[in-house]
Amino acid sequence: MTAARTGRTPCINPRCRRTFDAAKYGSGEMICGKCFRSLPQPIRDNHRRLWRHLQKWRRAEARTTDEFKRSRVASIVDAYSSQINLHWDQVLRPAIVTPERPVGLDGFLAEVGL
Ligand SMILES: [Zn+2]
Repeated sequence: MTAARTGRTPCINPRCRRTFDAAKYGSGEMICGKCFRSLPQPIRDNHRRLWRHLQKWRRAEARTTDEFKRSRVASIVDAYSSQINLHWDQVLRPAIVTPERPVGLDGFLAEVGL
């Protein structure tokens, strides 16, 4: 774990050399703006949508004083939080770490026997 030693959190793209201040952003996984913009539009939209909902419900949780209501809001926050983690693990990170090879090129290589 180099992040703990250097105080920097690297971008999840292994081919990207950008890092973030771990003290400011935590030592969890990060993606830089440049790599995020390189993702296919549907992945970016989905990530943004989940993130927006999560922030909205977190704010609602913070301002809800009624205990019963707050526990219901908290469970929605949990649900969005796990959805965003799932999307990150199963869609966003794999798209960065193992980008799909273009179908056209694969087809062409198969055709020529490579
Ligand atoms: Zn990056």
